[in-house]
Amino acid sequence: MQNEAPAIHLVTSTGSAEFAHLTYALTHSSVIGLDAEWKPHHSLSAFPTVSLLQVACQLIDSRELPVFLVDLQSIRLTEAYDVLREMFVCPSVIKLGFRFKQDLVYLSSTFCEGGCGPGFDRVEPFIDIAAIYNILQPRRIPKQSCKGLATICKEVLGIFLAKELQCSDWSQRPLTEEQKIYAAEDARCLVEIFNVLHQKVVREGIPSLSQKKDQHSEVDTGLKHVLEHPNGCSTVMRATFCEPANMVHKAVVEPKNGSEIVDGVESMKPCDTSMQVDSYLLWIIRKHGDKLFLGDADRRPKSFKMKAKKPSGSAGKAPENLDDWQGPALWDSVSGGDGCPKFLCDVMVEGLAKHLRCVGIDSAIPVSTKPDARDLIEQARKEKRVILTRDLKLLKYGYLIGNQIYRIKSLLKNDQLVEVMETFKLKISEDQLMSRCSKCNGRFIQKALTSEEAVEAAKGLQVIPKCLFNRNLEFWQCEDCHQIYWEGTQYQNAVQKFIDVCKLNVM
Ligand SMILES: [Zn+2]
Repeated sequence: MQNEAPAIHLVTSTGSAEFAHLTYALTHSSVIGLDAEWKPHHSLSAFPTVSLLQVACQLIDSRELPVFLVDLQSIRLTEAYDVLREMFVCPSVIKLGFRFKQDLVYLSSTFCEGGCGPGFDRVEPFIDIAAIYNILQPRRIPKQSCKGLATICKEVLGIFLAKELQCSDWSQRPLTEEQKIYAAEDARCLVEIFNVLHQKVVREGIPSLSQKKDQHSEVDTGLKHVLEHPNGCSTVMRATFCEPANMVHKAVVEPKNGSEIVDGVESMKPCDTSMQVDSYLLWIIRKHGDKLFLGDADRRPKSFKMKAKKPSGSAGKAPENLDDWQGPALWDSVSGGDGCPKFLCDVMVEGLAKHLRCVGIDSAIPVSTKPDARDLIEQARKEKRVILTRDLKLLKYGYLIGNQIYRIKSLLKNDQLVEVMETFKLKISEDQLMSRCSKCNGRFIQKALTSEEAVEAAKGLQVIPKCLFNRNLEFWQCEDCHQIYWEGTQYQNAVQKFIDVCKLNVM
């Protein structure tokens, strides 16, 4: 038995055998998983340059799933452009990605800069793997399942997708073996997850074919097995991929006897090189296929839209006592900020986020409940926030320069708050206390509410205790989550606590 590792082809030039193989695969696949890696940079006026494009191809004429790592740093982009562009819009090839739009923005910009205008503006049919996850896990509420790819992979395939290399330097050459395997896995697992959906459709049938649905008990061999033994999975791959096409064929030839269909798999011969998509795939495309489209606004880095702002000349005003503080602060108007630092507290210091909000400082938490490093960094970059973390891993890769990330040293929330205030030289005034929703970081609606107004506003959301009425209290409502706060005892205690913690001098 030969090496069981999945086929990973590094494509470094258009003249290579690997490129010929890639070109063949791009035009002879029904499902293609896409991912990209780039070295982050710190310019606000340009997108990062994509270093590597990973393409996992589910071939039509065999059960192979080769992965191509297209080295965009060495390949001639102008020569690779057309074949990629055609694949992106080929109607019979399902493209899979995980939050791929950003990858596409960067990819398009990279090709544009490499002389391939207008880059890429469309990928269709496209299916986001998060959407597939929602189809496969219908009991969950879609809105809540804002999960990372690793989590989806674990739940659907039962395999562990290591994410440690996500923030490694993708521009260094040669890539390490670990980087290659990591990069390939990220694209390949997309197709594997899709195959689970495909199996489900085959198993449950689509309305017009549902009478032939009980032939596929052997399909459940498990994708885990496939991934661990890519050469030992003929049953699964044949069942998931070739059988439906064969079934349709068989159904036409022998419409009255469904039980021979499974036997028919054995006689399944490789498809012609002409594109041939089985009816299950067509149905999936029709039902779940989507389209990624880049408009003009997507093609410009954010800062271009606000470059009219005049420079204030206060660059480099950032605190001096940070471990390795460099460059103008994110909140400086030079960088497009409004003069007030904003923070993004990672999951290890979420309590600190609430404390910061209580003293009026804009502090977000990760959008995703299980963010991976890239999500966190992209959120920080997009919202121009400084990441506060206790996670050494985030710092280790040098992904962000000093003034975009800060490692909290204190363990207790109060101490952490003081540490941040001292480090970033934040001046807190008393009227900033409790000026922000501690639940969601939102601002309060400008005008205070009376108890009657508060009860009305809280309807269906929150119960305002009756004991608060007739006490002439002021109520405040969060603009974003509509939570209502009032100046009760808890409020007074909290204010006093933060006055103490922040050592505010109150007259
Ligand atoms: Zn709120």
